[in-house]
Parts: sequence; C-alpha cells; structure tokens
Amino acid sequence: MDFDYADVILVRFGEISLKSSNIRNRMINRLCKNINAVLEHRGVEGEVYNKWSRVFIEDFEDSGKVVDAVSKVPGVVSVSPCKVVNPKIEEMSSGLTDIAEEVFSGGSFGVDASRAGDKSVHSFTSQDIGREAGSAIYKSFDSVEVDLESPDQWFYVECRRNEAYLYAEKKQGPGGLPVGCEGKAVALISGGHDSPVAAYRMMCRGCEIIPVYISLGEYSSVAHEIRAKKTVEELKKFYPNGDWDLRVVDGGDAAELLMDELKNTRMVSLRRFMFKAAETVAKEEGARGIVTGESIGQKSSQTLGNLDVSSRTVDVPVLRPLLTFDKDEIVEMARDIGTFNGSKIDAGCTNVAPNRPETSGDGKRVLDLEPDKLLEIAVEAGKGAVVR
Ligand code: ATP
Ligand code: MG
Repeated sequence: MDFDYADVILVRFGEISLKSSNIRNRMINRLCKNINAVLEHRGVEGEVYNKWSRVFIEDFEDSGKVVDAVSKVPGVVSVSPCKVVNPKIEEMSSGLTDIAEEVFSGGSFGVDASRAGDKSVHSFTSQDIGREAGSAIYKSFDSVEVDLESPDQWFYVECRRNEAYLYAEKKQGPGGLPVGCEGKAVALISGGHDSPVAAYRMMCRGCEIIPVYISLGEYSSVAHEIRAKKTVEELKKFYPNGDWDLRVVDGGDAAELLMDELKNTRMVSLRRFMFKAAETVAKEEGARGIVTGESIGQKSSQTLGNLDVSSRTVDVPVLRPLLTFDKDEIVEMARDIGTFNGSKIDAGCTNVAPNRPETSGDGKRVLDLEPDKLLEIAVEAGKGAVVR
C-alpha cells in the first residue's frame, strides 16, 4: 500500500535510546547504514538520515515499499509514513482530515496526540490537538464515531517545537539492536523452519551471522542444502552488508560412523559433532558463539539434559534464542520474515534418528559409547568447510 499523504517516513528505535550518547550515536549511524543497505538491495528509493536522535527517510517513490522493507530491519521498533505540517492547530486538524480521507473508510476512530517541548512553545495542549483534530475528522465524514479505547482507526499527531508529524499507520518492527553492534556468531542453518528464525533473532540482538550447513552425506540430500541456501538468501535481505556465504561442512563420514557404532545416543553425539565443527568455523571467523534453532523438548536431542550434554562439547557459548518458543510460534515468525517455505523435505537428522533415542541427558553414557575420534573428525570437517 502506498501512502500518498506521506512527506517523510519516521523510523523509531527503542533500546538504542537508553545508551550513553557516544554509543547511541554509533548505533543510530549503524542503523541508518543498515536501512540504506536494505533499501539498495531491494532497489527501493529513499534517503535515510538522522536528526535529533530520530531516523527519517525522504525522497522515496513508493512509501509502501519503504515501510515494508524497513519494518523488518533489526533495531527498528516501528515505522510511520508521516505528513509534516506546521505545529498549528488548524494545520494539524486539516492535515489529519486529509489523511483520514485517504485511509479511513468509516467506523470508529480516535486521535492520539502528543506534544513535546515546554508549555511556552505552543499555546495549546495535546488534549486541545486531540479535540480539535477529532472534531474536524468527525465533521468531514457522514457517520463515524469517536472511540478513544479501541477504535477501528487511530490517527496520530506528534507535535514538536517546529513541526508536527501526522500519521495513521504504525507498522511494528522487530526492535532490538542494529546488526553489527555485537560482533559475529556462527549459525547452524539446517534449512528447517527453526534455524533461520533463530539466526534472525540473534541479528535482532546486533549479531552478524556466519551461516554453516552440515551435510550428512548419504543421510541428507542436495535439496536439503539448497533449502538451507535459500533461507540464507532470505536472511540476507535484512542485512545485505554481511558475509552470507553458506559454509558447508562435510559430515558424511561422521554420520556413517555414528550409524555404524551407536544406537540410542547417536543423536546427541551427532549434535556434539555439529557443535565441534561449528566451533572450528567460529574460531577461524572470529565469531563468539554458535546459534541453533533448538527449543527445549522439541526433539529427543533437545531435552534439557541433552542440551546440557551437547553444550559441554565446545568452549564457545551455544546460543539458543528459540529455547522457550513453541513450534507454532516459531513457524509464525518464519512466515513473518519470509523463511517459511512449506518445504516437506525431511531433515537429514530424521534419517539418522534411532527408534528409541536417548533423552536422559546422561553425559557419561554418551561419552563412553562415542567413537574416540568423533571430535577430531569434526575439527577436520570444520577446517574443510567450503562455500559452493
Ligand atoms: P530446524 O530446527 O532448523 O527446523 P530441524 O528441526 O530439522 O531444523 P533439529 O533436529 O531441530 O533440526 O536441529 C536443531 C538445530 O540444529 C537446528 O535448528 C539447527 O540449528 C541445527 N542443525 C540441525 N541439522 C543441521 C544441519 N544439517 N546443518 C546445520 N545445522 C543443523
Ligand atoms: Mg528444529
């Protein structure tokens, strides 16, 4: 949807504003740079700048496209296409009425007005703005009603010292911090629904992602790898400046070894293999953690006990942002960021899973049964990761 009334697009951020001024400025600059890159990557026009600790976009062709692109950028709390007028009651009222005529098709509405600056700056209060603008909108429609609790349509006024921003849309973003504020983390990307969502959540805490896929030889398929690559392409849209080459680790020998030598504890040892290989990549890339899409109890290898056992394989933190989410919530997030592709292809792990997998988190048993050289193979496989 294009917003014809918009002169400028206002981008809000949250946590960044709690930082000390040096850090805040650095993060705002970083956010502007990231938004710019996203617009360029999508071929959407718009000039991004920051003024008085707020981010704005001007000179766009299609405000709707800008809003769509920017509202998924990590660090963005919400986005509003705004009409800008002088901070005078009459201008605000008629400007808001123009917006209403463009977007409001009847029903109930409310005006939410705020005013910044000390009282001497303006001769009116925010209540005055609400009342006057509300009455102007009311008069310009045949039969609408005012509802200040939960109307069909809110209209907003942010009145500042020298200008007033009027808008009717506040599109939610993911919030958090801009990518690049927190260093790098390796993300284990399987191509399933969980792992890309996990990577995105980490991006929303400021991390750059190094994607790693573990191929399981005959126990995974080419299609599986393609799927992983596709989800990485989707993630790239939110931070096109990153190094998004998918590092592919050959875990074929390890999978075969585990099939031959282990039964119940196979899946936990496979996790240990993956983590060790990912740790090797992380060390080479200067990354400070391994991200996975694990969630407590989602699979046998994700019981609290088994998560504990697999975490102890490596000495970098294993970061699991989806730990407490249900699968349907994760799928919802995957749809929202566009990584959900409805793929029915089985994950490699499913083919490797035994009938009665270990769930107890008995680390001693896992280590006693595990082939001695498994982690050595993992380190070598991690060193041999390729981009293809
Ligand atoms: P996903 O969790 O991404 O939907 P999945 O459910 O098939 O995939 P799980 O068995 O739940 O995979 O694996 C838990 C996590 O381990 C994944 O979220 C992912 O981070 C990682 N992982 C699993 N298989 C692979 C793989 N082949 N390559 C890279 N990472 C993997
Ligand atoms: Mg999963």
